[in-house]
Amino acid sequence: MKFSELIIPTLREAPADAEVASHVLLVRGGFIRRLASGSYNWLPLGLRVLKNIERIVREELERAGAQEILMPVVQPAELWRESGRWDVMGPELLRLTDRHDREYCVSPTQEEVVTDLFRRVITSYRQLPCNLYHIQTKFRDEIRPRFGLMRAREFIMKDGYSFHLDEESFEETYAAMHACYSAILARIGLHYRAVDADPGSIGDGESHEFHVLAESGEDEIAYSAESDYAANVEKAEAVALPSDGSVEPIQKTHTPGAKTIETVARFLDLDTTRCVKTLIVHDDSEESGLLALVLRGDHQLNEAKAGRIRGVRRPLEFASQADIETALGVGVGSIGPVGLSLPIVVDSTAAAMPSFVCGANVDDYHYVGANWHRDVTGEVRVADIRNVLAGDPAPDGTGPLSFLRGIEVGHIFKLGTKYSEAMSVTVQDASGRDVVPIMGCYGFGVSRMVAAIVEQCHDEDGVVWPDAVAPFDVHIVALNNTKSTDVQTVAERLHDGLQAAGLAVLFDDRDERPGVKFADADLIGIPNRITVGDRGLKEGIVEYRRRSESDVQKLSPDAVVGTCEDAVGDGLVPSRVRRPS
Ligand code: ATP
Ligand code: MG
Repeated sequence: MKFSELIIPTLREAPADAEVASHVLLVRGGFIRRLASGSYNWLPLGLRVLKNIERIVREELERAGAQEILMPVVQPAELWRESGRWDVMGPELLRLTDRHDREYCVSPTQEEVVTDLFRRVITSYRQLPCNLYHIQTKFRDEIRPRFGLMRAREFIMKDGYSFHLDEESFEETYAAMHACYSAILARIGLHYRAVDADPGSIGDGESHEFHVLAESGEDEIAYSAESDYAANVEKAEAVALPSDGSVEPIQKTHTPGAKTIETVARFLDLDTTRCVKTLIVHDDSEESGLLALVLRGDHQLNEAKAGRIRGVRRPLEFASQADIETALGVGVGSIGPVGLSLPIVVDSTAAAMPSFVCGANVDDYHYVGANWHRDVTGEVRVADIRNVLAGDPAPDGTGPLSFLRGIEVGHIFKLGTKYSEAMSVTVQDASGRDVVPIMGCYGFGVSRMVAAIVEQCHDEDGVVWPDAVAPFDVHIVALNNTKSTDVQTVAERLHDGLQAAGLAVLFDDRDERPGVKFADADLIGIPNRITVGDRGLKEGIVEYRRRSESDVQKLSPDAVVGTCEDAVGDGLVPSRVRRPS
């Protein structure tokens, strides 16, 4: 295809709102253009990448036994009422009303619709297991759309759902989907990690996320270098750490003006690891509506874990200064578990401290040498509610945890019978008994994937597309072609020859200076580049370069076709030119 005939509006300047490389490069390279907050137009180059990803996703899913369907974007509210989610979903759900005053939403996910479809078309155990997927537009009114395609409001997702008679069948499909997602990421050629994850509000059971590793990732992953253990920090289990020190006598100490853990520790000339901090959150199951969470001074509360405490308001909501003063008659900086009139959940590491410093529930006073058994009289539950730290032992008993950052591109869940039960779905088993099917759910962010690839595959000049998803295989840069018929003729011949060999070719035939063409070629990032210029042609050669490498090969125009074919064929995705076996 000719560059001059495609819409490829490259830019020299980065968009003002872009914070990460993928956002900058996808806009500058003319792949996408913003329409509104969190929504983007796909231009020809961007759409070609998206379609390549979709093709790989489809091939791997079909191989794993999933069937493609297509479900509507606008969904009737009744189905969401049936599952109970119409009232649970917050403002992320975009709701609308039609001309007959009937309520609808724009699909953020598809559990309700697929479960309804299933109950209409599947009646017998013989049709199970059943694994359905579609690739479709989703809308989530994200509170903070950002990073371009990474956290958009309108985006493209592959979402899949499976239905099973029993656990064994579910486990088999779950494992197949886990392997399928790994195969997709390996085919694209990315560094990725599958990690244990928090299922959030969608499910209650097991879940795994697939992360493309990148510094700009929004998620933090804890992993053990000594084993396969890897988990999203939201989920990573913290092992209770032993505490040195001994039981001390308790002493009430004046700590004027010391309201944070750091100032208290400094005032008392102690390490923050010797203190505990007390946070107050809303808990609708308690009479006071409040619950105290206690952690070691240097530890951070894990909100996903705290959100799983029975009764706690989800998402977690901290009590305001005013709520605390009304309930406890003390300022935020002086609360502590000794003599506290609220129920307490203490993190397992803080619970193992033989003595600790804590607020005395009197402004400007702290206790030194407090002890759980001797001094804390109210209701105390112990739970893992902190974030793991680098260096903590891994929960599988292997050695110290380290951190990586990742971009979540896929998430697979066990849904159990949450939706099938709520929506009264049954299937008859072999003995004629009605069984409520177990469901699995498998999401993959197809448009987020475009951004994730760029985050991992770029340099200071632009994108470096992996062969598997590149918008074109070969970029022909013709120098001064509008003045030199030789250049134009050879470039056209190469274009036709490469296309005949089954490769996708972008031919830069524009009347632009060489510098502009080279800069655009680097920015757009097509993996194989052929430069055709008068000087080379005099010696009978053109220049060939991989976008990912700096060396240039001088080859005859005939030889370069084979070199490109080999490079594309050698890529991680032979199916670009040959169908997978
Ligand atoms: P996140 O934690 O990033 O918000 P999620 O847990 O809400 O993701 P799922 O509901 O599991 O995501 O959706 C499946 C996949 O859809 C995600 O793994 C991600 O790749 C993609 N996705 C989710 N939200 C967005 C978004 N706002 N923009 C682009 N892709 C998204
Ligand atoms: Mg989300």
